Amino acid sequence: MVAIPKIDRKITGQVVVGKLTVGGRAPVRVQSMTDTDTADVQKTVEQIITLARAGSEIVRITVNNEASAAAVPEIKRILEDKGFGDLPIVGDFHYNGHTLLEKYPDCARFLDKYRINPGNVGFGEKHDPQFKMIIEKAIQYDKPVRIGVNWGSIDQALSTKMMDENARSTNPKDADEILREVLIISAISSAEKAIEYGLSPNKICISCKVSRVQDLVAVYRELSKRCDYPLHLGLTEAGMGSKGIVASSAALSILLQEGIGDTIRISLTPEPGAPREKEVIVAQEILQTNDIRSFTPLVSSCPGCGRTTSSFFRELADSIQSFIRAQMPEWKLRYPGVEKLKIAVMGCIVNGPGESKHSDIGISLPGSGESPVAPVFIDGEKAHTLRGETIAEDFKKILCDYIEKRFNILR
Ligand code: SF4
Repeated sequence: MVAIPKIDRKITGQVVVGKLTVGGRAPVRVQSMTDTDTADVQKTVEQIITLARAGSEIVRITVNNEASAAAVPEIKRILEDKGFGDLPIVGDFHYNGHTLLEKYPDCARFLDKYRINPGNVGFGEKHDPQFKMIIEKAIQYDKPVRIGVNWGSIDQALSTKMMDENARSTNPKDADEILREVLIISAISSAEKAIEYGLSPNKICISCKVSRVQDLVAVYRELSKRCDYPLHLGLTEAGMGSKGIVASSAALSILLQEGIGDTIRISLTPEPGAPREKEVIVAQEILQTNDIRSFTPLVSSCPGCGRTTSSFFRELADSIQSFIRAQMPEWKLRYPGVEKLKIAVMGCIVNGPGESKHSDIGISLPGSGESPVAPVFIDGEKAHTLRGETIAEDFKKILCDYIEKRFNILR
């Protein structure tokens, strides 16, 4: 007997962001970030809505200057008008967050969370007072914060101090090991300082982002042992295309399988022309592939080989997956549980019927030299045989009928 290993999730503290719970027993949340100029209200709202429609449960926006701080209330107002009033919007602050939150009280009031990077709140003597000012705004407006430490903007004073101590020690450690420790100490000591300034511990999330997989795994394993704050996971600069997806999947899958992580973001560099929401889809697919959450029925399709002489089955697999994604906003409301549906689109008889039988619904297309028919399997049994030019449309119709019969609770 071979049992599936159980994911024993670490139960952290719980933080409420807007109306959304993060951490505790809440599902692992999917976050994303806009790349528009926040001062461009229309473009920012459009992108937030695109990300939200793709499934982002929290969206972060850059608040880097007065124009962007001034735009926040209008962005929130339009989102409310368009039915996205419950979507938590997080302000990303660096260097001048203390000034912007003071000067633009509506920005402070309308944002649902503030992201603070302890490495970028001010240098030298200014660091602590400016950090304190942001925390006081969070207390004043009853907002949670994310203490978001980043490998690329590490707290220089702390880093220098720890590096010097290491250099003086009789058994000095590797510099990267010290830097990983700096990240953790920076995050936890900043959280402790925020509590000392009066912020409740249940208003704090933490992240310690790096760009290398092994570093991320090492840092979060340790962080998870040393604190109970909800943890936000992600590589800081995942990269472009398949590199970014593979690196993020590798790192996050290890941690998620170990029960670590309360929210995730996939920091992909979008390829030219690629949709911004790709990062949301990848985040969802990482969670779904790890059996942590389900978002949309996934299509299993074979890679194809010399037995498939046409691109037809590739097109069918792609068209079924796109069709499902397009239907999901409506299906989610009408068909509770549909996101767990398993679909197979296979290229020939070798593995087609077997894989299709393992799915809820599957189609095995004819390979080269096979009779030009496509058996459809439903719940493990052959239910239809499709042929001719309309196989794709016929299969989608069978799929819709199956979903209607199985998941429509109002029938
Ligand atoms: S199912 Fe058939 S077409 Fe697909 S990879 Fe296997 S042998 Fe090739």
